[in-house]
Amino acid sequence: MSVAVQIDRVSKGFSTYPALKGVSLSIEPGELVALLGPSGSGKTTLLRLIAGLEQADGGAITFNGIDTRRLSLRERRIGFVFQNYALFKHMTVAENIAFGLSVRPRSQRPDRQAIQKRIDDLLDLVQLGGLQQRFPAQLSGGQRQRVALARALAIEPQVLLLDEPFGALDAQVRKDLRQWLRDLHRRTGHTTLFVTHDQEEALELADRVAILNQGLIEQVGTPDQVYDHPATAFVCGFLGEANRIPVEIKNGQALFRNRPLLSLKGTNATGGAELFVRPQHLKIDSPELAALAGDVTLIRRHGAVRRAEVEVQGVDRPLEVDLASAVAPDLGERIGLRVGQGHVFAGGLTPSFN
Ligand code: ATP
Repeated sequence: MSVAVQIDRVSKGFSTYPALKGVSLSIEPGELVALLGPSGSGKTTLLRLIAGLEQADGGAITFNGIDTRRLSLRERRIGFVFQNYALFKHMTVAENIAFGLSVRPRSQRPDRQAIQKRIDDLLDLVQLGGLQQRFPAQLSGGQRQRVALARALAIEPQVLLLDEPFGALDAQVRKDLRQWLRDLHRRTGHTTLFVTHDQEEALELADRVAILNQGLIEQVGTPDQVYDHPATAFVCGFLGEANRIPVEIKNGQALFRNRPLLSLKGTNATGGAELFVRPQHLKIDSPELAALAGDVTLIRRHGAVRRAEVEVQGVDRPLEVDLASAVAPDLGERIGLRVGQGHVFAGGLTPSFN
């Protein structure tokens, strides 16, 4: 039932604005791929092209090798869930779920009993058994999105497209639904494309993540690949936090003010570059020995850890440093910092890390 989706050099402009500039992506049958990117990067446009709600200017989209331009909207069999998927307010949960089936031409419409069975099965699947006679106004936001998913699944879609489906919900409900969607996907195995601008959500949910920026895919890979081996400075900065330190590359070393900060494997590049270091990869050292030294200007709580801001001369923004519980510098104290690992990016330079 699941199909392979092939997106081949797809471009789309709105008047003169290029929303997608030649995007290619292969999605395996049954795969769950997250499309991640900032606002305006083209995520929704790509979903709408796959759904057939927009026409591409160039390139092609195929389902199991069949060009989607040859398929009617119905033949594409897309299940689509939007952020604020307005359920039909005047219809019960059961009627909402059955909608896609009950509007089919008589010859293709399942009989009443089959539709009822499908509603019951789907309500079980989305864990809303017993609520079928409720109206949308009588449901919580999370329940409504689960009804929207049940409705999308009712037509037995070939491809499931989810556009920020949990975007309007509060953080805890989002987390619960994330886990729930992962389980649901494991059981149903639909080829799924999931749009989000929340990197944590993408990394936790997806088999693979495609990172979009200004109408182009910057990198596609498993969550570990894109997080641990970002291909571009944009990906590195977008996936989690990163301090940016100006460095000079010389003899396989990243130098800060002529002092070695990090040795780089497999690069013979030279010249100016930027070193990206995550807050957990900066370690406190003595200010006399370390290449980076500065003053602690702020200490604050940051989730599970404490975080220090350290102002270092020659670095634009204060460095964010996660503090191990045993190490507690004082506000105003001068400390040194060692770089455990980082990624170096410069024009034309392949990323290196240590
Ligand atoms: P968001 O996370 O904010 O939803 P997105 O990554 O989904 O963003 P898109 O909605 O795909 O981004 O939009 C990509 C670009 O195309 C944006 O600059 C947007 O303004 C533009 N755009 C999208 N739809 C239209 C349209 N119908 N007419 C004109 N411009 C459009």
